[in-house]
Amino acid sequence: MSPRAELLEIVSQLKNLLISYPQIGLEVPGLSRQSVTDTNPGDTSPGDLISLRALIGDCKRCKLSEGRTKLVFGEGAAGARLVFVGEGPGAEEDAAGRPFVGEAGKLLTKIIESGMGLKREDVYICNVVKCRPPKNRDPEGEEIQTCLPFLRQQLGIIKPEVICTLGRIAAQSLLGREFKITQERGNWFSYLGTPLMATFHPAYILRNPSEERQLKRAVWEDVQKIMRKLGLKVRKNE
Ligand code: SF4
Repeated sequence: MSPRAELLEIVSQLKNLLISYPQIGLEVPGLSRQSVTDTNPGDTSPGDLISLRALIGDCKRCKLSEGRTKLVFGEGAAGARLVFVGEGPGAEEDAAGRPFVGEAGKLLTKIIESGMGLKREDVYICNVVKCRPPKNRDPEGEEIQTCLPFLRQQLGIIKPEVICTLGRIAAQSLLGREFKITQERGNWFSYLGTPLMATFHPAYILRNPSEERQLKRAVWEDVQKIMRKLGLKVRKNE
């Protein structure tokens, strides 16, 4: 057997071993049962996301691991047509190990369910960095670059028809350039050929109550563009 074939065989065996741990009742250190089941059981290809989660493991690849309570991988349908990408977990997400479960998450869920007429579990929701930055600071460039391959792999597995980035950091991480959210939101961009709509982060709306009405209107305009792209019926007077 050539060295390359031998290496591929070892990688394949390691992958199978990690995947089998939860199935046989063992836990990979730092890998909770919650975290391996946070994809919808009815998904079209949950195994790929589960194995990706297993390979991330008890990640210590960047310093955000030092302050986290739970790694927040993402959740939703593995076959989702639409993926929302935020910046990183906040306090509630860090405690729950789930994305967008705090106040900003409630607003996002309202947009998905009341605005778009979908169920939250119909879409996929994740972040650029999987661990909470201390005091909710912006993730640093090195942290983003270290964690970004996981997001890229998630998107590669899910293959959504549309990606919606929430806030400046998510947009610039996937587009690979500086992004001015107030000037550039509401336009279509491309992430490796997949249409990408950039809009405001729900937390930004909540942090600016004096502009809430205007910001919500802008987000609703962007969401309507996504709905049209996905062939969803846009209800009037939202
Ligand atoms: S933020 Fe990403 S790269 Fe950093 S420790 Fe968490 S999972 Fe690993």
